[in-house]
Amino acid sequence: MWRYPRKRLWQCSRWISNLLPVKVIEMSVGIYIHVPFCLRKCNYCDFISYPFDAGLAASYVYALEKEMKLYAGNMPGEQRDVRTVFLGGGTPSLLSGEQLALILDNCRRYFRVRDDAEITVECNPGTVTKDKFALMRGAGVNRISLGVQAYQPGLLALLGRTHSFMEVAEAVKACRSAGIENISCDLIYGIPGQTGADWKETLDRVLDLSPVHISAYCLKVEHGTPMYKDVASGRVTPCDEDTELEMYQYVIGFLADRGFKHYEISNFALPGMEARHNLIYWLNEEYLGLGPAAHSMLDRHRFSNEPCVASYIKKLGKNEPVIEEKKSLSIKEQISETIFLGLRLLDGLDTRAFIRRYGCSVADIFAPQLKKLTDLGLIKIAENRIRLTEKGLPLANEVFMEFI
Ligand code: SF4
Repeated sequence: MWRYPRKRLWQCSRWISNLLPVKVIEMSVGIYIHVPFCLRKCNYCDFISYPFDAGLAASYVYALEKEMKLYAGNMPGEQRDVRTVFLGGGTPSLLSGEQLALILDNCRRYFRVRDDAEITVECNPGTVTKDKFALMRGAGVNRISLGVQAYQPGLLALLGRTHSFMEVAEAVKACRSAGIENISCDLIYGIPGQTGADWKETLDRVLDLSPVHISAYCLKVEHGTPMYKDVASGRVTPCDEDTELEMYQYVIGFLADRGFKHYEISNFALPGMEARHNLIYWLNEEYLGLGPAAHSMLDRHRFSNEPCVASYIKKLGKNEPVIEEKKSLSIKEQISETIFLGLRLLDGLDTRAFIRRYGCSVADIFAPQLKKLTDLGLIKIAENRIRLTEKGLPLANEVFMEFI
């Protein structure tokens, strides 16, 4: 469930006059659609989501079409060429199969979705059936990202998840029988009380299901969440950093032994099964976010939508734009983002592509930082790439700070 870093990289502005930036962009984009409903809030979650309500969900689907229509009327033709669509949340699989199909039909009506586009829907176990997957497949969905998180019932309960591992296995089976084989599983390690043996058992049981992609995230206890309060009050003891590091190193070795390529800090894929949509973020390419709280990056502007679903529906009902914050990125900011996002990839930052894009080399701007990080053994520069080393991987955030 990777998102663009939630840290606000832009300053607040009251930008509502222009819906879109002015420069024509000659490249395809990814579309992210935020579906802001969940059965209940997980204890660790700070994403924007609301309790599922069928009436509100129907109004949301209608409003989403209006937002697409507004963009379609304002975007240059080239920009409407779409190579990935990602329905994330929230829990998109709470919508009916018909609603998910309608959203994708509308995408095709208002944008040029390529025939070979990767179309992903995030699903939670317990909210999907074979029939729903079949409707998704019929609508062009070819990738499912399943929120698994852990195997042990006690850890799932601590996280506030609403499903069991048995429902995970049933969801995978239903997905396959509907003909969707590209299945990714989201996992969490570093959960309070989770042992190394728990983590190994989770990985064993998940690999029994034969996913082609795994995202393994270290739990971050976010301010304002129920888990944060539990930790602050001492009711729950957070996982220590050494255990987190051991779990991270374990998953890297475990998945490498099973043929998975570790291609991004937290992501692993069988050959050719990397998440094409998320690669757009890591390569700092362009994407359009639709739905409440969705973020976009288009033509050197980063912007985000109104987060409140009721306001989002109301504004679109009056054909008003729903962009809440917008920032024009300076060249320096674009360069910084391209470097630290690119370094998330294990293949590293392509230095020749960087020169083609910015007309200068990374060394022209950051020579002292590159020397310092190389001397510390945190990065390696070779074969036209700058990569994090094994030592640098767990210290990625410290490395990124050097380029900001
Ligand atoms: S299902 Fe996902 S988005 Fe919804 S509350 Fe849980 S973690 Fe957050």
